[in-house]
Amino acid sequence: MAQVGVNPYEMALEQLKTVAKRMKLDPNLHEVLKHPMRSLEVYLPVRMDNGTIKVFTGYRVQHSMARGPAKGGVRFHQNVTLDEVKALSMWMTWKCAVVGIPYGGAKGGVIVNPKDLTDSELERLARRYFSEISIIIGEQKDIPAPDVNTNAQTMAWFMDTYSMGKGYAVPAIVTGKPVDLGGSEGREKATSRGISFCVREAAKVLHFDLHGATVAIQGFGNVGGNSAPLLAEMGCKIVAVSDVSGGIHDPKGFDVPKLMAYVKQSGGVKGFPGSKDISNAQLLELKVDVLVPAALEGVITKENAPKIDCKILAEGANGPTTPEADEILLKKGVFVIPDVLCNAGGVTASYFEWVQGLQSFFWTEAEVNEKLNEIMTKAFHQVHDIWLRETKVSPLTMRQAAYMLAVQRVADAVRKRGIFP
Ligand code: NAD
Repeated sequence: MAQVGVNPYEMALEQLKTVAKRMKLDPNLHEVLKHPMRSLEVYLPVRMDNGTIKVFTGYRVQHSMARGPAKGGVRFHQNVTLDEVKALSMWMTWKCAVVGIPYGGAKGGVIVNPKDLTDSELERLARRYFSEISIIIGEQKDIPAPDVNTNAQTMAWFMDTYSMGKGYAVPAIVTGKPVDLGGSEGREKATSRGISFCVREAAKVLHFDLHGATVAIQGFGNVGGNSAPLLAEMGCKIVAVSDVSGGIHDPKGFDVPKLMAYVKQSGGVKGFPGSKDISNAQLLELKVDVLVPAALEGVITKENAPKIDCKILAEGANGPTTPEADEILLKKGVFVIPDVLCNAGGVTASYFEWVQGLQSFFWTEAEVNEKLNEIMTKAFHQVHDIWLRETKVSPLTMRQAAYMLAVQRVADAVRKRGIFP
């Protein structure tokens, strides 16, 4: 969610401007890419359980369809703004382009705190929202997915709402569905698996062995919680983890299967036998080989960046590092794997889910993981090659290298298609 005082859309425009300047992007193409294609604002009357009607506001923004249908999640949150959704839709365009999947970018949001609604009120809100935005979505136009406070159940309601209007099941209209409704095997762990592939490749280019490498992970939800066992399988020692209630530390490394079982039973990481309590702030400043922020945006700032003490910073969360912190980390020599690359395993598996839905032909988890490995490894090296080439000219972050790759791909598509009419 947008932090107070930060307009995410202005931040997204600033990032684009910096990269456009470095790439000497045609100003006409820059002008096109600055604007979303389409922003839809909808007002959603919902009958509450007590019989009253409340009207909620929602958005769907399609930033680009130059490379294919627009793709991006829907979040339900009380702080959603149109500018936030516009920024997120632009970031989706870059993320899909970095990994080379044939999608543009979109994002949706509804201004609501879902905790204030009962399950049936939430279902009516979700269905009304999807019905209202269905004038601009379609399995060849725009394919929504889960984001903050939406999940596989929300996607099942979305899919059902759309299918009722059509008169037949349209599984490819959303991704992140339950597996028995056409969801993909491997989707749940795909973001974390993608992170582990990026960390593996980063360790190769930095010439260090991941065997025994120490790892700290902030956030123990879908992304952080699934990253721990995958990094441990590659030989890493998970020495610190945290969630919203705080963190735990054990320099010897946790027994990860026991930790996972403990979290499942207790609901959090705190109190794991043999561990020492630390704060979320302390976790970020531990001396480790790999740091994985996998909770919130804006946690690595100009204040704590000088104290970050890791070789690889693998951004599981979206936007965990502020632009000022990026500059500091660059000078310190921390190797940052930017979010648009590092956590793109999620949207890549969503792409697999969409392809499987369109074909009604489903893959095994092993097939999904193998294809994910191919795409993530290739994207990592394409970004890294740009970084190596450009760094000889003047220093840049891996994030800027990723943006250069993405913006070039989208700009090329716009240029080749031409401006209609
Ligand atoms: P989640 O809700 O499953 O987990 C979030 C975790 O962060 C929880 O453990 C929670 O306790 C912890 N947390 C919340 N507030 C915190 C705080 N103030 N300090 C420390 N920890 C806190 O969410 P997720 O799906 O794992 O997403 C995490 C991040 O990854 C988000 O930025 C999200 O946008 C990004 N992301 C997720 C996916 C995906 O496939 N789930 C894909 C790409 C990016």
